[in-house]
Amino acid sequence: MRVRKTEQDSYMLTDALVRVNRFLLTGKERALLLDTGYGEKSMMRKVGALTQLPLVVVNSHLHPDHSDGNHLFETVYVGEADMPARGMPSNGLARAVADHFRKNTAVPNAIVDKVLKYGLINTGTEKYLPMPDAYDLGGRTIETLPCPGHTPGSTLLLDPSRRSVYAGDAINPGFWAFTNAELSLKEYATLWRELAARLRGYEKIWISHHRGALPIDRIGAFADALEAAAPDKSKPLNFVGGLPETVHIFKYDAKKHGAICVFAYPSQMR
Ligand SMILES: [Zn+2]
Repeated sequence: MRVRKTEQDSYMLTDALVRVNRFLLTGKERALLLDTGYGEKSMMRKVGALTQLPLVVVNSHLHPDHSDGNHLFETVYVGEADMPARGMPSNGLARAVADHFRKNTAVPNAIVDKVLKYGLINTGTEKYLPMPDAYDLGGRTIETLPCPGHTPGSTLLLDPSRRSVYAGDAINPGFWAFTNAELSLKEYATLWRELAARLRGYEKIWISHHRGALPIDRIGAFADALEAAAPDKSKPLNFVGGLPETVHIFKYDAKKHGAICVFAYPSQMR
């Protein structure tokens, strides 16, 4: 588990295998842990070495690479629409893909089972609570802002004191839309344009699968990419089955912002 101090009282913890970033933000009275990854022992050791404060544990959204370590904690906050009591669509998706591989491919079952383990969220006795509007960590307030898209309950965390946004997988140079079949890319672009106005004054966006922070003006380019996506401009990916439609990849040249890829069903590009 690699630890990097990103800002004052802010740390990024990244595992070597799947490379998913979790963030630890400390105040005077509490510390906030954003995402629990796969619940590695090394993560718990590093968190313990960085802070002894009581932890507030939050998921940017309910997906296994962000949530599988939730069982290590008593209470976990998630966006209301991602509460496990509402069902766990990502587990359903992972099982459907695994079933497809078992029935239609020569991939040995032992390997399918092993990969499936990484696709499932294994809950324990932890209690889930919907996210409040803000967390008071003592001298540092972290605000929450719903950003339904990648999952219905995806939520941004805002740290006004550091002008930083934490977005999980809600914005990404390689954005997965197919994880939420209800999502329309055009509507999601509109949401991000509204969020851009709300986030005026912020400078950086920290995300889960990227080394550094994205500049805040990446939002406009991301919305442009979402709006430009169209079935006839995208290519089917044929390595995934068991899903309601074939996932397509749309590649967008965002000029100075580099390439942005969107992975979505054609029906989401309407
Ligand atoms: Zn995700």
